[in-house]
Amino acid sequence: MTTRSPFSIISWKKDFIENFSSILIDESDGDLSNTIVIVPHQRPARYLKKALAASENLPKPCILPEIYSFSEFVSSLMPKLTGSFPRRIGKLDQVGLLFHIIEGLRTESTGLLAKLPVDLQKFFPWGTRLASLLEEMLRQDIVPRNLSMLQGEVLDWAAALLEEIEIIFVKYVEALERRGWSTGGLESRNLSQNLDKLDNILAGKKLYLAGFYGLSGVEDKFFHHLWDNLGLRVIWHSDPALALREKGHFAVKEHYNWLSNWRAEAVSDDNTEGSCDLPELKFFEGFDRHSQLCAMREELSTGSYDGCAVVLPDTSLLLPVMHHLPEHDINISMGYPLERSALNGLLEAILKLQENKNGATYYWKDLLALIRHPYLKMLEINGDQPLRTIFHQWETLLRSGSPYADPNDFIPVYCDENGNLVDNSETTEELRAEVVNLCIDGFAKITTLEELADSLQHMAEMLRLRGGTLWQRYLLDSECLFRLMNEVIPELRESSISEEDFGQSLSFSIFRQLLSSQRVSFEPDPISSMQVLGMLESRLLNFKRTFILDTVDEKIPGTDPYDPLLPDQLRHLLDLPDSHERESVASYNFYRLIMGSEESCIFYQSGVQPGLLDSKSVRSRFVEQLLWKIEQKEKRIITPSENFPLKAINFPVGAILNVPVAIAKEPVAAKLEDMLKHKGLSPSAMDCYVTCPKLFFFRYLSNVRETATVDLDGDRAGFGELIHSVLKDFLTPQLGNEICGKDLNFNELSELFMMRLERDSLYLNLPYDIKKSLEYAGKNRLTLFLNNIGQTKIVALETSAQAILNLDGYDNYAVKIHGRIDRVDSRNDSRYVIDYKTGQLHMPRKSFWENSEIWNPILEEQQSLQYDSADFLEKIKSSANSLQLPLYLLMDHHTSSVMPHQAALVELVKEGQEKFLFDSKTDEEERIDIIGTKIPALSTFLIKNMICEPQFKAIRSAQCSWCSYREACGA
Ligand code: SF4
Repeated sequence: MTTRSPFSIISWKKDFIENFSSILIDESDGDLSNTIVIVPHQRPARYLKKALAASENLPKPCILPEIYSFSEFVSSLMPKLTGSFPRRIGKLDQVGLLFHIIEGLRTESTGLLAKLPVDLQKFFPWGTRLASLLEEMLRQDIVPRNLSMLQGEVLDWAAALLEEIEIIFVKYVEALERRGWSTGGLESRNLSQNLDKLDNILAGKKLYLAGFYGLSGVEDKFFHHLWDNLGLRVIWHSDPALALREKGHFAVKEHYNWLSNWRAEAVSDDNTEGSCDLPELKFFEGFDRHSQLCAMREELSTGSYDGCAVVLPDTSLLLPVMHHLPEHDINISMGYPLERSALNGLLEAILKLQENKNGATYYWKDLLALIRHPYLKMLEINGDQPLRTIFHQWETLLRSGSPYADPNDFIPVYCDENGNLVDNSETTEELRAEVVNLCIDGFAKITTLEELADSLQHMAEMLRLRGGTLWQRYLLDSECLFRLMNEVIPELRESSISEEDFGQSLSFSIFRQLLSSQRVSFEPDPISSMQVLGMLESRLLNFKRTFILDTVDEKIPGTDPYDPLLPDQLRHLLDLPDSHERESVASYNFYRLIMGSEESCIFYQSGVQPGLLDSKSVRSRFVEQLLWKIEQKEKRIITPSENFPLKAINFPVGAILNVPVAIAKEPVAAKLEDMLKHKGLSPSAMDCYVTCPKLFFFRYLSNVRETATVDLDGDRAGFGELIHSVLKDFLTPQLGNEICGKDLNFNELSELFMMRLERDSLYLNLPYDIKKSLEYAGKNRLTLFLNNIGQTKIVALETSAQAILNLDGYDNYAVKIHGRIDRVDSRNDSRYVIDYKTGQLHMPRKSFWENSEIWNPILEEQQSLQYDSADFLEKIKSSANSLQLPLYLLMDHHTSSVMPHQAALVELVKEGQEKFLFDSKTDEEERIDIIGTKIPALSTFLIKNMICEPQFKAIRSAQCSWCSYREACGA
């Protein structure tokens, strides 16, 4: 006897939950104890319970109906159907099982499978896809047929597996049953094969199927049986026009097909008139994600938050959206991917450390990423977080060390001259050692999934036990840790392939895959006024105002990632649904959502190309359909404008501030005065001031230090120092002698250089190619240098020199310019000041000394220059290039009391030649004027300017490109 009842349609213009709860109450006479409701997913169940609890028509107390999602319902029926409780296995077990099946088949096969090398490492990525494909076929109740002749269409592995997919499927199901294992797909298929047994199990129950749209193969068979035999009531949220045997809105096509497939009737109490009328629609065209969020925030504030829903097609939007929501009760119901969490950041840091290691040493940036992770820094001892101090020390050491470092080489300093740096050094050291042991050493020798699971377990336990209040304060983080410990680690440890030797690389990659499938749910209770939810979570729910973000085609309806095993265009060969059916479901979800709302705000970004190889974002086809509807109605083309329905999001752009702000001198005036009075200035500090006073402030007066970083090409500055010290030691025996470079011993110089280089701590850890290039470049340059030393007498080497400048008008104020001069020679009874350069050469051109625009004001009207002279400094810089060499001359003159004759830079970076400051046309009188008058006057002007200028102004130049303070400066 058939019990078929007509389907009931609740108009998608009405609240489904409210109307459905009334149907339930009416049809049960208030007794719901025998009622079972099947819903597409768990979310509506909460709303339904809330609606039933709030209904005045339902006498209380009462027993609420049993409400299940389809998979939950199947799981609840299986033990009653089969009398057994099979073990539900995860992906790893499925892949392990399939591997053994494929291994067995290879020996019998005469096809492509026999020719493929099968080892678990190569099979694994195909195994995960094959397991998903077989699961889908079980859910669709499809027994596949072999697909041959696919070579060339798909990759070899895919062609080989599809060629024997039928036997693989049969053996897979047999193997699962033989071992007493189960999967979601197998349960579904077993259900469809035992339908007749259901009649007894479900006899006397009132069954409701609420809000389904497209059905899978098993669902269709199962629900049809219940409808035929057990009085299943099918309730849709759809276009009521279907009840008039019309096709209805195009987005409810699957409902129409369902009716005709089941030869069913539909009824509805709702009016069909206006059932497809669109609600008030507002489109917002943004240029990026942030412009959408800004517009969303503004639009949200124009109405009530009650009954509002912000719908996100993509979980990556969740966190940025949360920053734009009002201070209001908000309920978030969507899964947040574990792979985007802070915990995953720590796990990635641990894995990368091992993947990039070199013997027992680890890459410095990977170590830095690990010890800078907040979870580790926040580990507690008695409420304190002492590892912050210790890891900071370690970071400083790593930054100034070699590219690869051994964690065991770091010995923390727990107290210095100021006393203890942390309260309890012993327990802190224990904790630090525990972190190193569990996060670094514990992952060093992983070859199996079981070992990886153990290491992860120990690390996670440490986080849990030592994290103090961290896990109570950050609930999302603790949920992530819970998932790792309760889902991922057990699956890694307990699968049938957990003990297989995969090696580090595959073990890590399997772990990453498992982790990427995990979603962390936000606490969905209480169901408060404003909702943030995903597109799928919005099914069956109605909201007054909906805000749908990122409505671009690649997200709504969206594109499936390419499946190399069975590409979309081949899916029909196995009778599997393809992208058309998925689009049909997405279309229903989208239209149902907006049809039920009073106002829908749809945001999208247009014309943005996220990456060079990415396509530009295009608004969703659903947006196009909606706009087309409006265009037809209004009989005009709708273009983005300042008004609705399609508003272009624009921001007024003010004039872009082109000059970085200056720094006021007043707060550091005392520090500057102290520096000038007592410490003095070096030629490089003077040069820095001329280049950019703001840079001078950062470098010499602020406490902001340039971040040290490991130089992978060899430490350039360190290499320069090494060459300087080698030259000094080599030439020291020649002090006071008349020498000529060609007469000196090249081999001795080379050997000295090599000995120093090999002793250098950085050299040991450099890559081979960099070592070799340093050796070659060093020896070559030193040889060229010797070749270029002509007849000369070395008077001083690495000697300290200083000039004292009295500042007229500044009481007792004399400023010292001081530094170290690399070499002073005597040639024809004249002093030559020599400076070695391992970088580029900078010195004033001849025209600088003759530039009246510079020298007239400096020599005659210095007073007028002391304020607002950034332009003048720029003029000096561009004409002089660098003042270092002239300042060395000044320092030597003051120190030796002899007027030097010449200064030169030695170009060690090229041929080792001397480049002289004065050319042959500069006569003696001119030299004396420059050294005796112009350089002191220029130096005095600069120091007075430093004192008088109220600000350190920024002077932009090519220097900004590599200035370490660029971010702080804002240039
Ligand atoms: S970024 Fe440029 S302007 Fe700013 S401090 Fe550095 S050098 Fe000066």
